[in-house]
Amino acid sequence: MAHATLLTGESGVGKKTLAHLLAQGLLCEREDGRPCGQCRACRRYAARTHPDAIFPAPAPREKSIKVETLRDMIDALSRHAMEGGVRVIVIENAERMTPQAQNCLLKTLEEAAGGTYFFLTADIETAILPTIRSRCRCVRMQPWPPERIERALIGRGLPSGRARTLSRYCEGSLGRAIAMHGDESYWSARELVRKTFLSVRKISDIAEASQLLKDQRDNGDRLLDILEQEIRALLHGKATREADEADDFPPHFQAADPKDLRKILESILIARRQKAANVGWAALAEGLMQTISEETSKWQL
Ligand SMILES: [Zn+2]
Repeated sequence: MAHATLLTGESGVGKKTLAHLLAQGLLCEREDGRPCGQCRACRRYAARTHPDAIFPAPAPREKSIKVETLRDMIDALSRHAMEGGVRVIVIENAERMTPQAQNCLLKTLEEAAGGTYFFLTADIETAILPTIRSRCRCVRMQPWPPERIERALIGRGLPSGRARTLSRYCEGSLGRAIAMHGDESYWSARELVRKTFLSVRKISDIAEASQLLKDQRDNGDRLLDILEQEIRALLHGKATREADEADDFPPHFQAADPKDLRKILESILIARRQKAANVGWAALAEGLMQTISEETSKWQL
């Protein structure tokens, strides 16, 4: 085990979970690297009361980890005797350390006694000083493949349809999938996208859809995001010939031509630019639906 480990990668890929498993594994009385979850050391780690586990974090009501917090940590390191010859320091979201705090950590990394292990997590590697990174074993955690996320979600008791949908939209992050699952506003926004942008097939459908969208200006970016995700997922399904990828789309999309889907993606991009340029929401939503209806009217099941 390296003396200091920096885990980086997208939010939700499991950096904190892994950092704590590694740290707890070092303290566990079973000493095979995997925490047993049963022994006294594991129980105390889980309760955050193990004397040899330190978790520098922002002080209450603060966002950053200040140098004082790091000094307290160093103080604790010098005072406490280690119970099992091992001590672990886990710093979640280490990019929250101020530059002074990072420099203080750097000194500690240089001077720390054997048996002291540091685990840092950060979404973006470059948010951590290069001098700290050069003293860490840097592990970049990759997004999970959709099938693995789907299995993990089913293992957590989610219905298989929901697990499958989430696995396609969470960008390889189990944490994000779980957050999306519990986010009712996401599911209602998705429902609205299906009832409006994805349902228009002729010009006369647009008026009714516009009515549903008229109060959604503040939610507009999210609706466009979801619409883009949906079209991309469909395009991916077409490209890789995974026939079942299209199953929960409005049925006429099963006959979609990839070339037309790309045109819809372009029009979403234009709508985003218009929104950023303060074009009225109703007008840009109608313009987008017009393009979509032109493309989708070509498809016959
Ligand atoms: Zn244990």
